[in-house]
Amino acid sequence: MEKKYDTGLMWFRRDLRAFDNAALYHALRACRQLHCVFILDTDILDALPRADRRVEFILAALDELDAALCRLAPHGGHGGLIWRLGSARQEIPELAHALHAQAVFANHDDEPPAMARDAQVRGALAGMGAALLTSKDQAIFERGEVLTQAGTPYSVFTPYKAAWLKKVDAFYLSSYPVARHAEALAPRPEGDRRPVPSLADIGFEPTNLAELKIPLGASGGQQLFEEFFDRMDQYHLARDYPAVKGPSYLGVHLRFGTVSIRQLASSAQQLTAQGMQGPAVWLSELIWRDFYMQILAHFPHAAESAFKPEYDAVKWERGKHADALFAAWCEGRTGYPLVDAAMAQINQSGYMHNRLRMVTASFLTKHLGLDWRWGEAYFAEKLNDFDMSANNGGWQWAASTGCDAQPYFRIFNPVTQSERFDAEGKFIRRYLPQLANLPPPLLHAPWKASAIELAAAGIELGRDYPHPVVDHAEARERTLARYAVVKKPLAGKKTTAKRR
Ligand code: FAD
Repeated sequence: MEKKYDTGLMWFRRDLRAFDNAALYHALRACRQLHCVFILDTDILDALPRADRRVEFILAALDELDAALCRLAPHGGHGGLIWRLGSARQEIPELAHALHAQAVFANHDDEPPAMARDAQVRGALAGMGAALLTSKDQAIFERGEVLTQAGTPYSVFTPYKAAWLKKVDAFYLSSYPVARHAEALAPRPEGDRRPVPSLADIGFEPTNLAELKIPLGASGGQQLFEEFFDRMDQYHLARDYPAVKGPSYLGVHLRFGTVSIRQLASSAQQLTAQGMQGPAVWLSELIWRDFYMQILAHFPHAAESAFKPEYDAVKWERGKHADALFAAWCEGRTGYPLVDAAMAQINQSGYMHNRLRMVTASFLTKHLGLDWRWGEAYFAEKLNDFDMSANNGGWQWAASTGCDAQPYFRIFNPVTQSERFDAEGKFIRRYLPQLANLPPPLLHAPWKASAIELAAAGIELGRDYPHPVVDHAEARERTLARYAVVKKPLAGKKTTAKRR
């Protein structure tokens, strides 16, 4: 086959795998020689705390990617990944220039800061006569691929999902056969034949990632998926209970591309076609992921303000008391055990169960009256699987400011949620051992326990565990008043509220 370019550069970003990778496949087919690079981007790294689980996760994934590229390369030991520590805006054009690359290949990243970075890189490359060629890889459908009949983007999930399911077929779910074209992988330039750096090499400190035993790299993603595959048929029954191993825990692998969305969605779709309910519900979650990605791509204003502008009129609490409430939420000291256990989970592990993301986000906005952006930023710092579109979508859903959000008058009761989804208190006890001797139902609301019951459980409220920072009924009234400024309430409008 005639190759279009003599030399190309594959720029890995959130697609850290050497199989079923769209840009890698297109690059290998288009270039006689292809180099591969990952930039440890200081524009991102400099803003992070010096201990960050995601940085460790990325380095482990790069180790595997480097080894996989070496294995694929026709010249064995001299293949592998080039890496740089610096701003991608400068490093990519400089490296492309040094390698005499005529084209740089990458997969789409539609988060607004990534789009701005790519525009700058594209401009710099164009100035040197080189192209930036990008592909869809991390979604089944992206950008304008699923539109209404009027040609406009969907902003309600249910019809989006119906159109998604109508459009999907084997073509969209099939893998890119990378290995078949691997003979184009070029040997690394001599100065670049070095291993992936350590945390210390890039100025970071270790976290507790190893203790968490999260399976790492593409092999870890595969292992997690195989384990989940065996319990996918139970997903719809188990996914709402944080003490149960219900969900896939693949979020972080989807975030960094150590798994292929096509592989996951096609497995779920095949099982769904056999009439299985668990895989159908899980497939829906993968569709939510595409849904929020296209929302952010079409409506980038949502990254900073309410999706529905009228909700920008809502006045959130400000000042010292608000700051103190926010600190209590972040540190899991609200006095509501399910909320506090959930915050302990995210703080200790970088993961939070989906049900609890909804409960804690609702609590921040509707019990504490705090700006959803505060919580969104906290999750962005802590979540291993942080993804701007899903996080923003989830926060705006909970705050009722979003595209297909729950109505503002729907206010989760954290005690009822606790009784329903952690009835025996297994999850709460795991993260709040100081409450271990308090039996349900008191475990869900310790302030309801009598002095004798508290003494029997060895708890003194205010010493071993906080008094509640707000009263549910009062908070509810304040929230209804706060949202009354919104001129067009959502009542009667079609929402996905029932799903929750
Ligand atoms: P599973 O239940 O196994 O789902 C499989 C995958 O589907 C997930 O890994 C994810 O990629 C996707 N998915 C599931 N639910 C959603 C959803 N509601 N929206 C978009 N994609 C979804 N998800 C993130 O990936 N990153 C985030 O930063 C994020 N922040 C959230 C913030 C809030 C306030 C809320 C309510 C939800 C957020 N979610 C986020 C969605 C969801 O909670 C997580 O995707 C899920 O808990 C990850 O665990 P899992 O991989 O075991 O999920």
